[in-house]
Amino acid sequence: MNRKDNMCYKVVEKIPQYLDGEMSEFEIPIFLEHVEHCHKCLEKYEIEKNFKEVVRQRCERKCVNTSLVDNIKNKIQMLLAKG
Ligand SMILES: [Zn+2]
Repeated sequence: MNRKDNMCYKVVEKIPQYLDGEMSEFEIPIFLEHVEHCHKCLEKYEIEKNFKEVVRQRCERKCVNTSLVDNIKNKIQMLLAKG
């Protein structure tokens, strides 16, 4: 593994951190500069970003359903408690 590949490996590993806003201020410029100049990493970054977006949208939908289910469960429990 040469030096550039090693850097790519580190950058790809940090993509989720960047997308989650968990990357330190110190690392962000290094990360962005690499992605800007490295097509391989840019491609992975785009894939990861799109993937996250889809997951987030699905989760939002799922969260709505979950709260609906919780609502119904609460109502059932209230009815049971009453009865
Ligand atoms: Zn790279």
